[in-house]
Amino acid sequence: MSKPPFVLSIDQGTTSSRALVFDACGNVVSVAQKELEIITPQSGWVEQNAIQIWQDVRDLCESVLNKHKDDHIVGIGITNQRETTIVWNKTTGQPVYNAIVWQDRRTAEYCKTLKPHADMITDKTGLVPDPYFSATKLKWILDKQDDINDLLFGTVDCYLLWHLTDGRVHATDASNAARTMLFNIKTQQWDEDLCDLLGIPMHVLPNVLDNLSDFGRCDLFDRPLEIMAMAGDQQSATFGQSCFDIGMVKSTYGTGCFALMNTGDVCVQSNNKLLSTVAWRIDGTVTYALEGSIFVAGAAIQFLRDQFNFFDDAAQSEAMALSVNDTDGVVFVPCFTGLGAPHWNADARGALFGLSRGAKQAHIVRACLDAQAYQTRDLIDAMALDAGHDIETIRVDGGLVQNNYVCQCIADEVGCDIDRPINTEATAWGAAAMAFIHAGVFQSFDDVSNHYALDRKFTPQSNNGDGYKQWVKSINALQTI
Ligand code: ADP
Repeated sequence: MSKPPFVLSIDQGTTSSRALVFDACGNVVSVAQKELEIITPQSGWVEQNAIQIWQDVRDLCESVLNKHKDDHIVGIGITNQRETTIVWNKTTGQPVYNAIVWQDRRTAEYCKTLKPHADMITDKTGLVPDPYFSATKLKWILDKQDDINDLLFGTVDCYLLWHLTDGRVHATDASNAARTMLFNIKTQQWDEDLCDLLGIPMHVLPNVLDNLSDFGRCDLFDRPLEIMAMAGDQQSATFGQSCFDIGMVKSTYGTGCFALMNTGDVCVQSNNKLLSTVAWRIDGTVTYALEGSIFVAGAAIQFLRDQFNFFDDAAQSEAMALSVNDTDGVVFVPCFTGLGAPHWNADARGALFGLSRGAKQAHIVRACLDAQAYQTRDLIDAMALDAGHDIETIRVDGGLVQNNYVCQCIADEVGCDIDRPINTEATAWGAAAMAFIHAGVFQSFDDVSNHYALDRKFTPQSNNGDGYKQWVKSINALQTI
């Protein structure tokens, strides 16, 4: 009897790097994980050590592969924090600067100068001129270099691939390229006009391949392994949540919150400040998505834990929120790194409104969790307007949705069903499932959907809408400061 097939999935996230081995039923058989340090040299600047990212990933892969010496690993799938920008020397492999993380706002002033070109940028890339995307981070790094002839640019997927193939392959995938603000998502090419506008030489850009491709062979471990799939974390989660039909929506609640709706082969241009993006490109055919991105979700809970010491463990936030009947008028807007969709205000910063003498920790915690539902409503209302119909179900994943209170709040506030699957590893599973398809272990998307199983459905209950009214007032007020 032939050995059962496994895939090694590399999930390089903002808070940690992980290497997971999946079986073909979607089960995690082995996992190794390491936290990744954030470097904040100045207010609004967020960096990570690029060398550390690679060393951690290599060590984690080695450690899980050691547990599977006699098993049949059919290949590697890579998923990654998106937009994070790395530039390195192709001869030495040395990064010329730290990785500039997606949350970094150092190019906010420069982005304002791109406003006259905003329509052109949106038309070509589906994005809005914002520091969030790679292009202005790349420009910032390159502007500091004397000689750029030997330099290569990559998002984290591309940088890892380059190292895994020992410097032989400089390539990315269409879903990651779509987040750079240099890639035309309609023509599926790097855009010369945009590169000219930003002064980016096209020779630093990687080759853009389908999400399921022969990316290259890795010879660094105890056996040769083919890299068979790559996808940005949110697109990978959309795949892992089996959102294969037009109109299906997933929302991932980790550090930030990212909701994507499958729009099929139509690149829907949002009239409501959402982004258009590539969900995946397979055999040259693009599936598009509308995306709403919120920069701070679970990170707000972490903030209450680490900066305010309100609790020791994020999970305790649920019992604290339920220990009071309401927020006592407190509204918490956790936009520590600016407001993302649909507001797009890079200068906005977090705020607490409505503090009265009686406000307790529990009220603030509850307001923080409620904010996750209000932020989601902002996105989903915009999505429904663009789609021309109500959203009936959202498939959720990420660390924060272990919190039942939050899931119920989202259902009540958005007025749709919230489906939480048993497999909460949607992001890592997406890349693994892509690799299983490319390896021929899975014949079609059905082989992925068949492994989707519901843990719990949250259905909307009563909601008088007062909380959301206060939220809207607060968002408006803080943008006038
Ligand atoms: P990422 O992939 O972005 O690193 P995860 O999906 O691992 O994030 O989610 C971690 C986040 O979820 C943390 O910011 C943490 O504060 C939050 N979190 C985890 N469990 C809970 C919980 N039970 N209640 C509220 N927040 C939680």
